[in-house]
Amino acid sequence: MQTFFRILKYSNGLTSKLIQFFIFSVLGIIFSAISLASLFPMLNILFDKVNNTIPEFPAFTLSLNFPIRVFEYYFKTIIVQNGKSDALLFVCLLISVAVLLSGFFRYLERIVASRLRVDIVRNMRTHIFTNVTRLQIGYFNNQRKGDLISRFTNDVQEVENAVMNTLKAVLKEPITIIVYFGALFFISVKLTLFTLLVLPLLGGVLADIIRRLKKEAKESQESLGRIVNILDETITGMRVVKAFNARNYILEKMDVENRFYRKVNMGMAYKNELASPVSEFLGVLIVALILWFGGSLILNGDQELDAAKFMVFLALFASIIQPAKAFSNGITSLQKGIASARRIFTVIDTEPAIENKPNAVVLKSFERAIEFKNVSFAYDAVNVLENINLTVPKGKTVALVGPSGGGKSTLADLVPRFYDPTAGAVYVDDIALTDYDIDSLRKHMGVVTQESILFNDSIFNNIAFGMPGVSEAQVMQAAKIANAHDFIMQTENGYQTTIGERGSKLSGGQRQRISIARAVLKNPPILILDEATSALDSESEKLVQEALFNLMKNRTSVVIAHRLSTIQHADEIIVIQEGKIIERGNHETLMQNRGLYWKLSTIQKP
Ligand code: ADP
Repeated sequence: MQTFFRILKYSNGLTSKLIQFFIFSVLGIIFSAISLASLFPMLNILFDKVNNTIPEFPAFTLSLNFPIRVFEYYFKTIIVQNGKSDALLFVCLLISVAVLLSGFFRYLERIVASRLRVDIVRNMRTHIFTNVTRLQIGYFNNQRKGDLISRFTNDVQEVENAVMNTLKAVLKEPITIIVYFGALFFISVKLTLFTLLVLPLLGGVLADIIRRLKKEAKESQESLGRIVNILDETITGMRVVKAFNARNYILEKMDVENRFYRKVNMGMAYKNELASPVSEFLGVLIVALILWFGGSLILNGDQELDAAKFMVFLALFASIIQPAKAFSNGITSLQKGIASARRIFTVIDTEPAIENKPNAVVLKSFERAIEFKNVSFAYDAVNVLENINLTVPKGKTVALVGPSGGGKSTLADLVPRFYDPTAGAVYVDDIALTDYDIDSLRKHMGVVTQESILFNDSIFNNIAFGMPGVSEAQVMQAAKIANAHDFIMQTENGYQTTIGERGSKLSGGQRQRISIARAVLKNPPILILDEATSALDSESEKLVQEALFNLMKNRTSVVIAHRLSTIQHADEIIVIQEGKIIERGNHETLMQNRGLYWKLSTIQKP
């Protein structure tokens, strides 16, 4: 229930909405009860059971009897003055007006419920998305994408259904049931008590079915998450799937998951679909029992009950079955919704592992150096970096080289604090990164990665990414420095051309130059370049290399390079192997040392 209240809190103006919902529901129910109760005088006329004396106009009392007496007064007056046909017409009009009003209030009640529902969905999605984007990079290694997507879509959908159904079930239907039972008691205490005795039969059977459904609902959502995941991976990696003839493998994988999903959902369907006929049968069984019991009462000359009252009783009782069903459906939907809400809340409640300390220092300007002191790092248990000591003085370029898997990218990721070291610390101007305000730190850094990260948006927006208010002239200037302006002008709409998902409409070199233009525009004092040219052919590489050279002017750079020719002029070259620095120095000293750097350089010589 706590979870349910937490869901409701996502609505704006919850209390006022709940009060409105309550008032409209009660009014709707009262008018629908009136429409049913009006059957009684009508049946009395048809059975010719009314006498022709007009009663006194009743004195006001605060009880159900007062409106009934008032009605009786007018009703009898019409019978005496205008005859029974007119009285019948009067009752029919009354029924019509009551049904109209009941419908009107039900409409208002639904509108309030819908407002509540759409507010909750919107606010919840915003909250999930806000929190997901706050989480540290490492979170996305462990959390599967499909699972997150499924929480964002299907689970929110389940919560939406649950809110709608539960509001009805928890707030409205009990009122309906109570009001109607009140009316039943008013008609016949004995018969109502008898009804109450047989009713739990229906409830008990249904409750059992619902309990069994709960576990399967959770399994079904999880399976759907995995299906989305396979679909996403397949679409993203379609080239590889085709090139490696892995279609059958992926089909099989999808088939296994689909089969599981089918099994779970069939299991749910067996129970879900059973609920309806079973409850119908039990409902009719109960009505039959009431017919038998009530009929016997009338046949034996009961004082409370007569045929007209009995018919109204049955009509009212039949109207209870629907809300009772809705109540049990609401409970099922609530349970599914709560399972989904829990999955959503685990995402929302995940605290970012990398966060600002209280009183974090704002980095105003980078003045001296970036330093690694005794830094070690492990993704899981295995150390990827061991005891790294390194200084990158302001204005200098430090290159990281070495065999792949050695830990170069990991080392570079520590600078913008994508990860925190497991031991030791990284300092900027003698203050540990963990003491800085993260945004102020990252403001001073630009990152260009091997795989250029572009978004399905215009070239302009990709370059101006995260920098609101930059002018077209500034973007163009950056693109020129990045050697990108010429090819951008040749695209269909120039800077407004959209570049497809992940920039798929551009070549590798073009994508890279847009990433570089983005970094140029941001104009950060510190640059991190991760294998920025390794995926390119030599023509593009030349253009990109030139762009990078322009970018690196007057900045402090950490460069990861595969092609050693590109970093020969670095101020210091660090050779990393298996997480340790095994050699360091400039190009000349390293060549003289005849170590790993020399070996790698000789291999790469054309
Ligand atoms: P390099 O950049 O030198 O090629 P990396 O820093 O990418 O090396 O990787 C260093 C080691 O850390 C490798 O053994 C790699 O398998 C491991 N590694 C990289 N990223 C992750 C990750 N997100 N989770 C677990 N292990 C990782």
